Amino acid sequence: MLDLSHHGRDDEKRMQKGVYLSMETATSEQRLCDFVGHSRFFPVGRRPFQSNMKSPRALVEALPPLKLNAEEEVELQRLAESFVLSNLSQYLELSEGVRKTGTSPKEWRELRQKESIRVYTQRSKKKSDSAVEEPSVPSLLLFGTVAGCLNDVMYAVAASNDVDIQVKSKFVQDGIVDAKVLCEVVRPSINEPFAHVNVTWRLYAVPEARDYICVEASGIATTAEGESIGYHIAHSVAFPQLQPFRDADVERGNLSVCALYRQRAPNSVECYVHGFFDFQEEDTVLSAISMNAMANQWLSFSHLIQCSEMKKLVWRLRKKAAQLADTCSSSGSSFDSVEATRRRSSAAKPASHCSVCTKSLGFMSTGKKHCRVCDRTVCSRCNLKKTVCTVKPLIGTAILEKKFAVCAPCHQEIVKSDALAVARDEIHLRGCTRDSDWWSVSE
Ligand SMILES: [Zn+2]
Ligand SMILES: [Zn+2]
Repeated sequence: MLDLSHHGRDDEKRMQKGVYLSMETATSEQRLCDFVGHSRFFPVGRRPFQSNMKSPRALVEALPPLKLNAEEEVELQRLAESFVLSNLSQYLELSEGVRKTGTSPKEWRELRQKESIRVYTQRSKKKSDSAVEEPSVPSLLLFGTVAGCLNDVMYAVAASNDVDIQVKSKFVQDGIVDAKVLCEVVRPSINEPFAHVNVTWRLYAVPEARDYICVEASGIATTAEGESIGYHIAHSVAFPQLQPFRDADVERGNLSVCALYRQRAPNSVECYVHGFFDFQEEDTVLSAISMNAMANQWLSFSHLIQCSEMKKLVWRLRKKAAQLADTCSSSGSSFDSVEATRRRSSAAKPASHCSVCTKSLGFMSTGKKHCRVCDRTVCSRCNLKKTVCTVKPLIGTAILEKKFAVCAPCHQEIVKSDALAVARDEIHLRGCTRDSDWWSVSE
């Protein structure tokens, strides 16, 4: 676990200057992009326009393998850590300011709002404010709350393999059309199921095809006061073996995004996301369009709790399948409550009445459905049609959204289940399952 109480004074000084990655920590080849506050981008050449954008899968196939040595892996972990630390101090300052004044900071202009989430862009500085013009790296800020628990947010956020990233993107609509984990540095564990560090490739299509190579990390950090802060970062890195695609109409962009989450009330998680973007776009109008597209995609943060519920439902169905098959089952059966077992045993008889509201289902009733979790028959009003992401077996790449019948009591039980315990059990269950198989829930 990332312990925030031990970071040194040097780190603090470095962060106050707004520099989270000094050149001393970068390698001699300058492989790590260092652009926040510096605008010192890794040189990525622009290519002449070609209208032969390959399919995302063809691009994925063309990505060469990435092997890192132990030293490089440690370096990436350090980069992720210092990036979280520098953002944390900025977040705490902003959060305190908003709490005291009740208004958002003046230097930010609101771009979008959805539920309790607001997305801002930095106001452009007037030339008279300073003699030297600041380097302008477009940035976005998201600040607000989502209704739920920190563990639920982290369960949704911590997508650490190709299929999980694609499922999350499909469900929350964050704009990622395809993604690939190029190198796993830290895998989620039973101990820390929300923690991972990876090097990933992601492709966006709106407003135009643009890809990013990033170090991504998530986890829960603990402050000196013992408070838990969830984090998820993505920061552009460059490797000589991962050059931009030459024969496809895809621009390589740079981004640096840090999301922090904190439980502020029993059912309220504060969200702070700060991101810098270099779209490799000389045209300021096109750059502004890209920025607005990104702001739209950031509204997807409001869907994290629903994403967690969907993942919990898939876990519940996997758990049920494992128990039925009596293989790969967890030793602790605390999730299979006595109530759920009772519901299942009562499902065997042909039902004439709804198992939840006892309404008569009538002869040849068309509205009745079987709950996917407990198998009981429910009327159309007691059937909560829940959206579940599935992967077609054998095809293994296309993510489909299906509506599954779930009765209200089963849904309540799933929503209330602790996401941390679910995530731990999921790692245990997935120990003997392929990632695509986990999501190929039969219809
Ligand atoms: Zn009913
Ligand atoms: Zn049910």
